[in-house]
Amino acid sequence: MLMHMGTGQTCWSCGRDNGDGARTCGWCGVWLIELYPEAVPPAVRSLLPLARRWGISDDGYRDAAVAGADAEALAALVAAVDAIGDAALYGWLAGPEASSARPSAEYVAVTALTMAAEQARLRREGRPSDP
Ligand SMILES: [Zn+2]
Repeated sequence: MLMHMGTGQTCWSCGRDNGDGARTCGWCGVWLIELYPEAVPPAVRSLLPLARRWGISDDGYRDAAVAGADAEALAALVAAVDAIGDAALYGWLAGPEASSARPSAEYVAVTALTMAAEQARLRREGRPSDP
């Protein structure tokens, strides 16, 4: 493993270089910044590690991540989102931050995570997702 000198940061997921200050990887879409538990309701906190990996806001990168995941990873993704009560999860997502011009990274990531989980669910059921 090469140690990179100077500016930039290496993506923890795909290993490619990104510029300083990038919030998400420009190559695979995962979050490069930390997602803070304090920014989400307590019931949703357990989703943040998954949201960092799967909560990809770019549709193309998210589709590719789900399409490239193995069955075990897809099952874990669906189970984790299913484990959170709908009222806590979707109540928060539909709350005041939904109309914010600058939603938090955590909000954006968890929103995208629910989309990834839905895609994973469809894939596990053997149905092709929409093109
Ligand atoms: Zn990456």
